Amino acid sequence: MIKENLDLLRMKILAAARRTGRDPNTVRIVAAAKSQSRDSAEEAIREGVTLIGHNYVQEAVKEKPSIGCGPFEYHMIGHLQKNKAKKAVEIFDVIQTLDDWATAEALDRAAYEVGKSLGVMIQVNLSGEPQKSGISRNEANALIQKTESLNNIRLLGLMTMPPFFDDPDAARPFFRELRQMRDELIAAGVMERSATELSMGMTGDFECAVEEGATLVRIGTALFGVRIYA
Ligand SMILES: *Cc1c(COP(=O)(O)O)cnc(C)c1O
Repeated sequence: MIKENLDLLRMKILAAARRTGRDPNTVRIVAAAKSQSRDSAEEAIREGVTLIGHNYVQEAVKEKPSIGCGPFEYHMIGHLQKNKAKKAVEIFDVIQTLDDWATAEALDRAAYEVGKSLGVMIQVNLSGEPQKSGISRNEANALIQKTESLNNIRLLGLMTMPPFFDDPDAARPFFRELRQMRDELIAAGVMERSATELSMGMTGDFECAVEEGATLVRIGTALFGVRIYA
């Protein structure tokens, strides 16, 4: 099942990239593995997925795939509490959801202690929905500038989660805004030229996200099937 799902996903990503003249190889799938068994994540890795995402530190510790399946990067895609920074640095390669300075400092310190260069992305809340994590667009500049000054973490780019819409096209303005934001931050020299990653798009709207410039699409349901919570 995972292989067939992945084939279909890759075809759709290819088509969406072609529609807008993008190189499909610049789009990677992050398998969103929350509530899935480790077996499923390992199968995805054997089928060529190289990025595995989890939302909760504890679950990510428990369900971390074995490196025997193949090379993969482990991404935190859920909200990270500052008191879990140390543990998160120990197990993850990339934190996609950084949205405050205290956590940035905690991650930097932990990365130094663990002797690891940690990748981070800034989660931006573009809709202003209060229940969503992420820093506001206005406050992002300052956080990004300060984060760039830390020695043990590397800023890779931006991440966002638009509101839920039945119509994926309704999310498009948010994807476009994140891309523009990245381009402006890089042009202004606030963000390094290398910080090009845009993590945006999920099962319901990844094709729009790819058309708008996503480099990382976070896919759960379309890869693993509907989530069943124990
Ligand atoms: C669960 C989750 C996804 C994947 O959701 P699907 O709709 O199942 O593809 C993507 N991003 C985040 C942050 C998630 O929590």
